[in-house]
Amino acid sequence: MKCSYKECGKEFTPRTHNMKYCSDECCRTATNEKLREAYYEKKARLAGKKRICKAQGCNVILSRYNEDNVCDRCANAKKEADRRQMIEMIRSVTGKIS
Ligand SMILES: [Zn+2]
Ligand SMILES: [Zn+2]
Repeated sequence: MKCSYKECGKEFTPRTHNMKYCSDECCRTATNEKLREAYYEKKARLAGKKRICKAQGCNVILSRYNEDNVCDRCANAKKEADRRQMIEMIRSVTGKIS
């Protein structure tokens, strides 16, 4: 089977049925990496609490679940503005044709 450590991925013959890594080294490295990832994930989420909406004039603090850099309201407002602009564009173009 293949070593579960993605950087390794070496084929090996497991000595026990629950062996996931080709060596102790890979097992240790993979475990350390998982811990480090969990640490950074937590850190980023905590830091995310302080993120503020990037839209001008808006100081809404972003939810840590929001992966965007603007708040939901600004994101929707921008979408709506884009939509209106598109409609205006279509109107002006079709207006010229007819
Ligand atoms: Zn390995
Ligand atoms: Zn906003």
